[in-house]
Amino acid sequence: MMERRVRTRIAPSPTGDPHVGTAYIALFNLAFAHKNGGDFILRIEDTDQNRYTDGSEKMIFDALKWLDLNYEEGPDLGGEYGPYRQSERFDLYGDYAKQLVEKGEAYYCFCTQDRLEKLRERQKAMGKAPGYDGHCRSLSQEEIDAKLAAGESYVIRLKMPYEGETIIKDRLRGDIVFENNKIDDQVLLKADGYPTYHLANVVDDYLMKITHVIRAEEWIASTPKHIQLYKAFGWEAPEFIHMPLLRNSDRTKISKRKNPVSLNWYQEEGYLKEGIVNFLGLMGYSFGENKEIFTLQEFIDGFDIDKVALGGPVFDLVKLGWVNNQHMRLKDLKELTELTLPFFEKAGFVTGIPTEKEFDTISKIVEILREGAQTMKEIVETSEVYFKDEYELPVVTEETEKKEVKGIERLHSVLKDEIGKKAINLFQSKIEACEEEISIEHAKELLKETLEGIGEGPGKVYMPLRAVLTGLPKGADLYNLVAIIGRERTLNRINRMKKLYNI
Ligand code: GLU
Repeated sequence: MMERRVRTRIAPSPTGDPHVGTAYIALFNLAFAHKNGGDFILRIEDTDQNRYTDGSEKMIFDALKWLDLNYEEGPDLGGEYGPYRQSERFDLYGDYAKQLVEKGEAYYCFCTQDRLEKLRERQKAMGKAPGYDGHCRSLSQEEIDAKLAAGESYVIRLKMPYEGETIIKDRLRGDIVFENNKIDDQVLLKADGYPTYHLANVVDDYLMKITHVIRAEEWIASTPKHIQLYKAFGWEAPEFIHMPLLRNSDRTKISKRKNPVSLNWYQEEGYLKEGIVNFLGLMGYSFGENKEIFTLQEFIDGFDIDKVALGGPVFDLVKLGWVNNQHMRLKDLKELTELTLPFFEKAGFVTGIPTEKEFDTISKIVEILREGAQTMKEIVETSEVYFKDEYELPVVTEETEKKEVKGIERLHSVLKDEIGKKAINLFQSKIEACEEEISIEHAKELLKETLEGIGEGPGKVYMPLRAVLTGLPKGADLYNLVAIIGRERTLNRINRMKKLYNI
């Protein structure tokens, strides 16, 4: 038999914010397809109109594009096997369902809601699993014709075999065996003419020539129904690969209550696409040799689906923070600065397009702060001291945390202290003698000279400098600060604080 070109897909339903699980499954589908020289496709499964939310589809496109999880075919791109939105393929599904009826593989079911409810109650009372009892399976052709002619409402159900087994040959899990008599006669076409997930999913995977269905393990229970559908149609089924579910730290299935799950949230928090993709790549997968940091391309190049581990990967924000920090440090500084600008703007530290000089200053801030930050938002949150030239010393109030009290009291006392005043004046005179631009090395040198000139311990010399330069008991390294804000702003800060505190 001719080798078929590998084609994988994700088939999200547009029911809200784009989910991290969608990106996770997309990454593995994309890696598998591209590693094998095939295509990765996006199909939107929007047949359940009750669950559809406006704008959600566009957010899926945008989130996948943000992460560079680019599909070759999709609703917004088109392709040979379109349309890629199920709501645009409606007519197809009814025809295929009827084709199965004609083949004797499916049947019209005219049972009313009322009958089905009573059936369920009876089954419950008897301690039986709920399921359709096959009532309409044995209707004669005359009965069916009469009901259809009378315009009775119907659904179409799949005729599941009463005996035997359906086996999923999962590439990662081996054989998963289901007894056919425990599988319900699935509804394929609903009374309103809409297809169910099962029918639309199988018809589309077939028509779109999908060779490998890589999806989350929560779909395992649906797969025997799909296998039976393929059989009923006489089609070759794709290979099934069920990925482990992402989990909260308590090992339950990842959920909004315990973890942010919206990709929009991760974007707003300032995670890099490289960080997210790398982190998702670590979920259930390992390159070995302690290689934890990689790019999307490296992931694809080294990808081997048979190495996926099934042990329920935990979606751990601490780990994500670490991975993202690594990528922020690897990223080209100019690019990272550009990506961080909107966060500076949002915090009110930057307005409008920065001049070249301002951009340069911001880059330096980013360069220093990315070392210790997990996200771009965190870079900005720790950057205030570089932007704000006007401040006062904090004062101890009832709300001050106990561990902060000592540091604040010390700030006030060093400004009254003679050594403190001398240190400030000496440092000021050294800065006055400088050019506007001060390098980090030079700033370090000036601080050291001040320390030696005063001849006291570092605490006594640097704390008063910190007080006038930042107004805070701890934080930014002073040499970085001076190098970034330059001569003029350093002097302005010192003079202003001297006036305020009578130094
Ligand atoms: N529409 C399903 C979803 O929302 C598709 C599942 C599958 O991949 O078959 O995830």
